[in-house]
Amino acid sequence: MADKSMLSVEAAEKIIASFPVRVRRRTVSLLAARNRILAQDILAPFPMPEFNKSAMDGYAYISADRSAAYKIIETIAAGKPPCKKVLPGQCAKIMTGAMLPPGADRVVKRECTHEENGFMKVIADDNKLNIRVKGEDLKAGQMVLEKGTLLRPAQIALLASLGFVKVATAKPPRIGIITTGTELVEPGTPLQAGQIYNSNYYSLAAQIRALGAKPVSLGRVIDNAAVTVKAIVSGLQDCDVLILSGGVSAGDFDYVPTAMKNAGLTLHVEKISVQPGMPTIFGSRKEKAAFGLPGNPVSTFVIFDVFIKPLIMRLMGHEFQPLTCQAILRNEYCRSQAARSAFLPIRIDKGRAIVMDYHGSAHLHALGQANGLLYIPAGQNKISAGSMINVRCL
Ligand code: AMP
Ligand code: MG
Repeated sequence: MADKSMLSVEAAEKIIASFPVRVRRRTVSLLAARNRILAQDILAPFPMPEFNKSAMDGYAYISADRSAAYKIIETIAAGKPPCKKVLPGQCAKIMTGAMLPPGADRVVKRECTHEENGFMKVIADDNKLNIRVKGEDLKAGQMVLEKGTLLRPAQIALLASLGFVKVATAKPPRIGIITTGTELVEPGTPLQAGQIYNSNYYSLAAQIRALGAKPVSLGRVIDNAAVTVKAIVSGLQDCDVLILSGGVSAGDFDYVPTAMKNAGLTLHVEKISVQPGMPTIFGSRKEKAAFGLPGNPVSTFVIFDVFIKPLIMRLMGHEFQPLTCQAILRNEYCRSQAARSAFLPIRIDKGRAIVMDYHGSAHLHALGQANGLLYIPAGQNKISAGSMINVRCL
């Protein structure tokens, strides 16, 4: 019988997307703004280029002037304004980026000329004006970057070119991580019988950092109801979003769903028809959001990428859209159960997608070799080799 509390991927996404958020601003220096989200519209303070300039090393002259030779009246370096007006029969030697002298409307590049005794002759023609005209890239006051833009190196370069030293960006939200499981120990500690390393803290913290948000380690908790409630209550005070890993399934020691309720959270999502990650929980208390993720490492990773990342980006004023690419599937994919939608770790190599050996949501090694996730809708149990598929890039 269908589980009525189980939501489709799309329905769960919609519920999380309707959670109200408030973006906080922080003005930072230009380099500190890399990987942050712009919290102000940027308008061009001046035109770009700011003046007519040469696009080549060459000679500036009047394009209609067909003299056999042009007298060189001055040499104009980048950064030095020209001193003289160019008249018929004359030219100014000019460097790339230097200001075009008055009178001239064309630059002939050096390779097309011959210079002798203070005169320049055009010996070949590239038929180009070789001028970057004032305002051709940007007009003064033109919108350059919109609020909500992710600032990557190209945008930092653009801001610097317009003279910005600081910009208003979204303050990185604090994302608390609580890992649950009596079996967990930290890497660096020898493992005793039955213990495993806590990899979920590291995967979540790395994923949070990659978004430009701030991971907050709230520690490991043993599988105990009271301890879990206490950790959630204090985590909610300190963080904007809380993520718990482990303890959300139907085992005897899975205390997280009840603990989330007992900590005052209202649960909006209690199960998603997705593989991996079916027992995922999403809840909120006032302006704080909390997720309970199944502890298997591939589940934790995938659910973060699909459901939590968009919320964190929204907390920074950015509407996240996953980057996808198309590839041809090299080998057939099939599954026996197709009741749930699935996200499958996949590797794209030279334009071809390879379904790897994947043993399920504990198989971190498969995820470690993947560079994408393949979304398989509910009801579909096979994709033939040679099919064109859409892959969500990791
Ligand atoms: P659970 O969701 O608590 O039932 O855990 C499911 C599986 O994930 C178990 O095999 C756990 O040992 C494992 N697991 C839980 N938490 C973590 C973690 N933080 N890092 C790595 N594996 C974990
Ligand atoms: Mg557990």
